[in-house]
Amino acid sequence: MYSDEEFLALSGIQHFAFCRRQWALIHVERRWQENYLTASGQMMHQRAHDEEIRERRGTLLIVRGLFVRSSELGLSGVCDIVEFHQDERGVSLFGEDGAWMPVPIEYKRGKSKSGECDRLQVCAQAMCLEEMLGCDIASGFLFYKQTQSREPVAFTEELRDSVRKLSAEMHDLFRKGHVPRVRKGKACSACSLRDECLPSLQPRSATSYIDAALEAWK
Ligand code: SF4
Repeated sequence: MYSDEEFLALSGIQHFAFCRRQWALIHVERRWQENYLTASGQMMHQRAHDEEIRERRGTLLIVRGLFVRSSELGLSGVCDIVEFHQDERGVSLFGEDGAWMPVPIEYKRGKSKSGECDRLQVCAQAMCLEEMLGCDIASGFLFYKQTQSREPVAFTEELRDSVRKLSAEMHDLFRKGHVPRVRKGKACSACSLRDECLPSLQPRSATSYIDAALEAWK
């Protein structure tokens, strides 16, 4: 169990899964660089949070901008949307009759990706809600603006284990104040921090330097 002072931003788990160094530049060194992707993402999240906080549509209750936290993960953040569906397996809510099953929905600006980053974030939100409300949440959704589509996310044991493992690793790096070295890859071209990270200017390892020198001699 983490104490309040040790809590980290839940949204950081997607940065961490994308690139450990990107996460550390943002969350350890507190560097952030705006680009079109981050700016439009922020505007979309703001819209999701700014509208009516709580909306009732029949047996569906929609809550926007709900703060969530988990002492087990040491993470806290804000859910874009949590839908509460009337369901006898759910939980009771203040001011509402019956039982309600929470379903977190995370908004993303682009389209569905092959990696796990987005799924990890919404799973971490579900794990926070479970700890706060004392319930089991089987699935949630990702909403992609570009394709205007909802993608279901099953909160499998495998995905939950990844959330636990990554959050423990985040806390470890944060405690050490460690910023991992550049690992150039496909992610760099879509990285909002590449002008801060400067992957092409990073010093080479001795091995890669010698390999390149030997290659030039051939
Ligand atoms: S440019 Fe590449 S190595 Fe650097 S932070 Fe971004 S993804 Fe990571």
